Amino acid sequence: MNGLKGKNTLITGASSGIGQAIAIRLAQEGCNIAINYRKSPSGAEETEEMALQKACKNVENCGVKSLLVQGDVSKESDVIEMVNTVVEKFGSLDILINNAGIQTECPSHEITAEDFDRVIGVNLRGSYLCARETIKHLLTQNRRGVIINISSVHEIIPRPMYVSYSISKGGMENMTKTLALEYAHRGIRVNSVAPGATITPINEAWTDDPEKKAVVESHIPMGRAGTSEEMAAAVAFLASDEAAYITGQTLFVDAGLTLYADFREPWS
Ligand code: NAD
Repeated sequence: MNGLKGKNTLITGASSGIGQAIAIRLAQEGCNIAINYRKSPSGAEETEEMALQKACKNVENCGVKSLLVQGDVSKESDVIEMVNTVVEKFGSLDILINNAGIQTECPSHEITAEDFDRVIGVNLRGSYLCARETIKHLLTQNRRGVIINISSVHEIIPRPMYVSYSISKGGMENMTKTLALEYAHRGIRVNSVAPGATITPINEAWTDDPEKKAVVESHIPMGRAGTSEEMAAAVAFLASDEAAYITGQTLFVDAGLTLYADFREPWS
């Protein structure tokens, strides 16, 4: 896609699932990729290997650079260090993908303040801190840039038992719009991609159980869960110059899940 070759990109939580697929896809588009992981580097190493294999197709030194960066996005000092490391190693940072995310299931009247803060801390505060540090850098170097937040259909669909997750993604919508408006004149575009039900480790409660999977898929108008690669394709589009005139938007990649699926049959 236009405008991605040679762009320096940081993808948070890129050692599995959607983040891993985004890193691979952006490397295939010619981006240099900084792969963030929280604790163990093994998943991030797997991402790096797959990304370079697919991007370079066994050609040595195909021009795509990669970097593993440890950091907990909910910790301010980690985020500052992570962005500084990427800028130091790559020379700049053009594209930030705020993908790291967690969820906990609990009745809303029982969730502890610590559990609530943990989810908000990673999904919302962490995304904001990464955006803040990236924007600071872009303004200092007077560069244009792109930020993409990985939201969720639960940005707009309420999710009982997951109140902190729903709040974090709802807040992400406003963060996307606010930052998009504030920095539009500096050439910084901020958008969200909101996946529907996607087959990744975060959903292992139903992806490996055919009965539960069938129930989930019965609510999806197009009848199937999505893949990480389908989410990564939307991210690549929004990151590219094909989307040069798009900012402040959420692109729902959900096979119609947000279309009130129960109204499929007009007589029901
Ligand atoms: P996943 O569990 O595979 O990925 C989440 C990643 O975030 C993991 O690699 C994890 O290590 C990382 N992470 C967690 N806490 C972190 C922290 N403090 N610092 C840095 N990294 C951290 O699940 P996924 O489905 O690929 O989720 C990726 C994003 O997509 C999340 O933001 C999630 O909310 C969103 N999403 C997923 C779905 C879905 O159905 N899978 C649907 C909507 C939105």
